Amino acid sequence: MKYHSAAFAIVMSVALVFIMGALQTAEGKPRIKKLPFGKTADGVDVSLYVLTNKRGAEISIMTYGARVVSLKMPDRDGKFADIVLGYDNLDGYLHDTAYFGAIAGRYANRIAHAKFELDGKTYTLPQNDGQNSLHGGTQGFDKRVWTAKDVSTPAAEALELTYLSKDGEEGYPGNLTARVVYTLTETDELRIDYSATTDKDTVLNITNHSYFNLAGEGNGDILGEEMEINADQFTPIDSTFIPTGKLENVAGTPFDFRKPAPIGSRIDDDNEQLKFGKGYDHNFVLNRDHKPGLVLAARVYDKKSGRELEVLTTQPGVQFYSGNFLDGSIHGKGGVAYGHRFGFCLETQHYPDSPNHANFPSAELKPGQRYHQVTVFKFSAH
Ligand code: BGC
Repeated sequence: MKYHSAAFAIVMSVALVFIMGALQTAEGKPRIKKLPFGKTADGVDVSLYVLTNKRGAEISIMTYGARVVSLKMPDRDGKFADIVLGYDNLDGYLHDTAYFGAIAGRYANRIAHAKFELDGKTYTLPQNDGQNSLHGGTQGFDKRVWTAKDVSTPAAEALELTYLSKDGEEGYPGNLTARVVYTLTETDELRIDYSATTDKDTVLNITNHSYFNLAGEGNGDILGEEMEINADQFTPIDSTFIPTGKLENVAGTPFDFRKPAPIGSRIDDDNEQLKFGKGYDHNFVLNRDHKPGLVLAARVYDKKSGRELEVLTTQPGVQFYSGNFLDGSIHGKGGVAYGHRFGFCLETQHYPDSPNHANFPSAELKPGQRYHQVTVFKFSAH
């Protein structure tokens, strides 16, 4: 009897494994994992989705702010570490002022005096950065709960997040449907597809605001990590971080990252732009030789771990922010205090304050048009 039940159990387990396998092949891959991640102050449920690839890379994304919560990539010895700054739980994010991992919008970065003109009409936005409007206002895309959908294919796990930003929300015109798709490829790339449509003329600029530390989050500052930026020019700013409208050559300045240089090697140079930015907090004009599509924006290498990040984008610019406002007051994952410059951001984007600069690439979107931008964060180790 005992023998029979053991044999039965074995047969059943084999059958179960077989059925599971068949299910997985039917679906292409096992579905991405969904976990509860708490509730907002208004009682809205927030979910966390975990995407993995066969090499063991893992990214988790939550519906609050469509934020990247963790990103685990191997070092040169195959050891995984979480390389993005953030918090252990939703509560941290609900009180966050640093935009950790967030989708920033409708207009990422700043709009001067929180005002712009479109089709002869002046639009007024919330002032949440001195007199300026930053990252879409007081209730930007980073603070909204997005709708998630598993859009994985046999080739890769992917998560789509959508958000309908109503006409007039945070002062911006038009009902705007925004869609962000995060895909984790089998070659350790995080691809982000941004798309949007509107029913009225509007302006937009959507990006991801992840803070990276290739040595692992919480593991010291990023000043020794080597940065390369594919830009001959950048957009200098005034003392309130608003572009002056000029494009300035990087040659002969601490903004020349055309050859790799440690982030910290010139950050304290006596330079007005570095003083205004309190370090690097500037938009770089990407070299693209009139080529559309993806171009290299930046490459970052951490000698200690061997991790490398390459950023490719369809956008005209990238904001390199060296984490200058981090001052140890934020306690992130595992309660670790995030000190000065413990992370860097590479925010692919249209230039800051474009709606007020006719000479910058236009950030307008009209009914019938479809906004589509792609950014790829490609990881490797050597
Ligand atoms: C801005 C910084 C700002 C940071 C966090 C970046 O995109 O350029 O000036 O402090 O976001 O809000």
